[in-house]
Amino acid sequence: MKQFKTESKKLLDLMINSIYTNREIFLRELISNASDAIDKLAFKALTDPSVELGSDELAIRLSFDKDARTITVSDNGIGMTEEELDRNLGTIAHSGSEAFKEANAEHQGEDIDIIGQFGVGFYSTFMVAERVRVISRAYGADQAFVWESDGVKGYTISPAAAGERDGENDHGTDVILYLREIEGEDSPDKYLSEWGLRDLVRRYSNYVRHPVQMMVTKSRELPKPEDAGDDYTPQYETYQELETLNSMTPIWKKRSSEVEQADYDEFYTSTFHDWEKPARTISFHAEGALSYDALLFIPSRAPFDLYSKDYEKGLALYSSNVLIQEKCADLLPDHYNFVRGVVDSPDVTLNISRETLQQNSQLRAIERRVERKVHDELTAMMRDDRESYEQFFENFGRGLKFGIYNSYGAAASDLADLLLFWSAREDKQVSLAEYVAAMPESQDKIYYAAGDSRERLEKTPVVKSAVDHGFDVLLCTQDVDEFMFQAMRTYHAAAVAGDSEHKGTDERDLELTNVSTADLDFATEEEKAEAEKASEEHASLFDAMKEALGEKVVAVRASARAGEAPACIATEGPISLEMERIMAEGPDAGMVPGARRVLELNANHPVFAKLVAAQDAGDEAKLALYASLLYDQALLVEGLPVDDPVEFAKNVCELM
Ligand code: ADP
Ligand code: MG
Repeated sequence: MKQFKTESKKLLDLMINSIYTNREIFLRELISNASDAIDKLAFKALTDPSVELGSDELAIRLSFDKDARTITVSDNGIGMTEEELDRNLGTIAHSGSEAFKEANAEHQGEDIDIIGQFGVGFYSTFMVAERVRVISRAYGADQAFVWESDGVKGYTISPAAAGERDGENDHGTDVILYLREIEGEDSPDKYLSEWGLRDLVRRYSNYVRHPVQMMVTKSRELPKPEDAGDDYTPQYETYQELETLNSMTPIWKKRSSEVEQADYDEFYTSTFHDWEKPARTISFHAEGALSYDALLFIPSRAPFDLYSKDYEKGLALYSSNVLIQEKCADLLPDHYNFVRGVVDSPDVTLNISRETLQQNSQLRAIERRVERKVHDELTAMMRDDRESYEQFFENFGRGLKFGIYNSYGAAASDLADLLLFWSAREDKQVSLAEYVAAMPESQDKIYYAAGDSRERLEKTPVVKSAVDHGFDVLLCTQDVDEFMFQAMRTYHAAAVAGDSEHKGTDERDLELTNVSTADLDFATEEEKAEAEKASEEHASLFDAMKEALGEKVVAVRASARAGEAPACIATEGPISLEMERIMAEGPDAGMVPGARRVLELNANHPVFAKLVAAQDAGDEAKLALYASLLYDQALLVEGLPVDDPVEFAKNVCELM
């Protein structure tokens, strides 16, 4: 018996127990080796006119024997000589394939896309096999040799017996795995079945470019006998058929002009288990130092778990058509976590188990390109197919907003123009750019209102008043909206050309402002002067009301903002009523400070005259009652609960 070369026992042990985290990749490795062997023979035929390939199709065959507990992977590729068996399988971390690639480097143009590179993949078989037998006959040789090992002690090589690859032109390799007996979940017994092998091929080797075939058992109905009576029940027979398990053509390698959308749709629905066609398909190809093909999809509907913490984002990563990672998270920014798809690159540097990449900079480069492509596609969709875009935004808009919030506003330069909001004035959704384009010349801020329902927001005094003054207000009803706006602070509006209908404006940064924050003024100068005058004139009235309301408010004052309502609640500082409400439901409830509320009164409203009268009459009790009622009523209009409903009811009765 020969010992493995290199300090190999330890290495082998390391291999089997530490390098791979995933046992089932053994078949991927064997199929990749078989595919390489076929490529090498095809390459030889291409470059050496003396090589004649038989009429047999070059293919990979799988079979299994339940009783003997074996799985066999065969190919009719280039095979190995006795020396090659010794060198390639007897030396761990020696890759005959890598050597082949180097030796033929000058033929790069001829497309030798060999998968092997580390010389360790073969040993992954020992994760599932206690013994491996390799029968190989090199192309052109007239004798096959058998390599055999238990993966621990060493290996033997001997001439093959009669019947083992001794037919004419019987070149190629059989790898026979004698499966380990392991109890429980790790048991390889599940691969001793048609579906078990089919499943592994589909998942890992579906796009390997040579056919992977297996004899499968099928069933068919027998023809109905002529003398069959009315009560004839159909009879069936089982039969064997050679089936190709892999689909071979990686659709992502094709130019989109060569592919029907129906084929993309079919690929998408079957690969990503969605029953609806994708909303958009993006295909692109990069060439150069890092070349890759990418095929991305924007789904038509959100998966049910998109916003749960179990949701895993990522694109499938292939290298030379072999699956490396099912969901490579590094290829997608978080805010595009809904994108599904495939990236395939022969150039990425894989780590030795081929389960991950070694170089993050390559992934980052791909991610950046993916991000740009998705961004451009969404921008085009918004421009050209608004209806679909609104549907998209309904599904995934919240994620875009979180992207801005989570990046502390940094992602806004990419994402802000993809957002849509309901407009208070137009009864439709508008983008920030559209909002800005429709602003009157005097407006220098973007106004929004936040609350839990659009209908209610539309009716609040501040929003009405803003609209009455000719200012549109974005109605925000998602929990993240206002947090996002605070993270953004401003929106960078692009320049508008002078000959457009909206005059010429330079690019500028517009502040995003909640209409109910107290430092806001969209009232006209005249109205403001009036309110200011009222504030001065009635300072003592406001002091008395503030006194009556106590801690509930930080101030009471006159304002032009209440519009036609007698009063409204405004806030000072960064925390609005809506944010207060959202945070009160969050995990940090109780730790965050509340909104600083201001009761604002409309000095032109008839109720105001009553307040003045009560104060003039020195009726403190009545003034306190009015103050409390106005405050509660303003809260109700905002869609907020009154602090003390019993007290509120009592006050209303007292008034009646
Ligand atoms: P890698 O594929 O990364 O080179 P492996 O451990 O998978 O490493 O295989 C080691 C070497 O054994 C290969 O490089 C190749 O030269 C040889 N080999 C393995 N399987 C076959 C096969 N089916 N036919 C011909 N050569 C093979
Ligand atoms: Mg290999």
